[in-house]
Amino acid sequence: MNDSMSAGHCSEEQIIALLLNDADPEIRAHVDSCPTCTKALAEYREVRRRVELVREEEVPPLLEARIMRLARHGRRDDRGAGLPGVVHALLTNPLFMVVAVVAMLIVLYLLVGSELVNVP
Ligand SMILES: [Zn+2]
Repeated sequence: MNDSMSAGHCSEEQIIALLLNDADPEIRAHVDSCPTCTKALAEYREVRRRVELVREEEVPPLLEARIMRLARHGRRDDRGAGLPGVVHALLTNPLFMVVAVVAMLIVLYLLVGSELVNVP
């Protein structure tokens, strides 16, 4: 449905590069003035936020790049699914589920730990 995406907008590689602070200034300038690319950037930022949650477990950069790539595939499969690409990727990629579960376990661990400390 997004045939206009190809002309003039940032490629997903460029958006990922932007997210990793590795993009040309003109790409950043385009995203700043383009709602479509801003939205795409926000989706990838959300993916990155999830990755950051497990960063304390030392997620290798290679795994992070792989997650980004999985998100990109999710976006491509999204045309008829009616789900945002990131959500679609989350629900369909085992690696994403593993990351999500690990993140949840860490949060649960922290919650249970602080509650134990606060018991009167
Ligand atoms: Zn654009």
